[in-house]
Amino acid sequence: MFNALIVEKDEEGKTSASVQSIGEDRLPDGDVTVAVEYSTVNYKDGLCIGPGGGLVRNYPHVPGIDFAGTVETSDDERYKPGDKVVLTGWRVGEAHWGGYAQKARVKADWLVPLPDGLDTRQAMAVGTAGLTAMLAVMALEDHGIKDGPVLVTGAAGGVGSVATAILANLGHKVAAVTGRPETADYLTSLGATQIVARDEINETTKRPLEGETWGGCIDAVGGDMLARLLGQMKYGASVSAVGLAGGAGLPATVIPFILRGVNLLGIDSVMQPYENRLRAWQRIAKDLPMDKLEAMVQRATLSDLPKLGKDILKGQVKGRVVVDVN
Ligand code: NDP
Repeated sequence: MFNALIVEKDEEGKTSASVQSIGEDRLPDGDVTVAVEYSTVNYKDGLCIGPGGGLVRNYPHVPGIDFAGTVETSDDERYKPGDKVVLTGWRVGEAHWGGYAQKARVKADWLVPLPDGLDTRQAMAVGTAGLTAMLAVMALEDHGIKDGPVLVTGAAGGVGSVATAILANLGHKVAAVTGRPETADYLTSLGATQIVARDEINETTKRPLEGETWGGCIDAVGGDMLARLLGQMKYGASVSAVGLAGGAGLPATVIPFILRGVNLLGIDSVMQPYENRLRAWQRIAKDLPMDKLEAMVQRATLSDLPKLGKDILKGQVKGRVVVDVN
């Protein structure tokens, strides 16, 4: 028997989540069984713990879109018992049972070995949010980061916090956009050199181009904010579009693309090929200072998840949450 956060749906379509003790025979098919040590809380987890958001396929469901732990049994030659592994993406925690449990069974293809220099707790302090931040930084690097501060939106959230710390550690000036002025000291401690109030950049403008200000951008917000900041990018600069915390719309013009050569780069963490996930995890172990990571972390247990799920949907979680499932 092991503990898991089980989400059930009643006949009226209302979901409820509770920690239950269940047998291993209820685990889904897969070729690797992992003793999960840590998981975390992402925006998508908020949806899967609560309303489902069209992501959860079947109930009862175990959410948790990422986890780190130790291989218990494996039918795949790449993994053997005792190996430390990390899982992100592949619709685990949505279409498949996920990491909010003491055990998980998954496809070997979805795992990566834990990189040297990170333990399982640190890996989940990074989590999908941090992996995505690293993928976004790598995309900016591939297209060239221009002089001038790199803008990070949704900066006090999970993706934004890790992006801020990595970019600052790589020597870039970081302008952090936040709607929570009380997080300014926190963002400065992660390495932000400038705090931009959300309201300053969230309003729509009729001007398709404004002053050339930012040498790159990692955007977790989308919507009006992304539309506006495209017109503030330096000539040839790039924006990694990661999230939609502020909306899925994009009420923009093509002017920044065709007059300033601005690049809009889409970042997806879910279907990333193995080689890219491995490269990003190795870069995280090298380029994310662990003291900065610790400053972002709050600890939680399985029973804290129903509340944390609601909090993250309201944009009220600061930094990263590490869930100790044991
Ligand atoms: P968080 O909730 O931790 O962070 C989002 C942040 O966005 C908030 O902390 C807040 O930052 C800001 N924000 C919230 N609501 C609004 C709003 N209405 N307008 C403007 N800003 C707002 O989530 P994550 O960091 O985990 O994820 C961020 C986004 O990235 C989500 O949309 C998520 O779905 C997406 N994502 C995408 C992935 C991919 O593969 N592409 C992978 C992981 C996440 P502040 O208070 O500082 O303003």
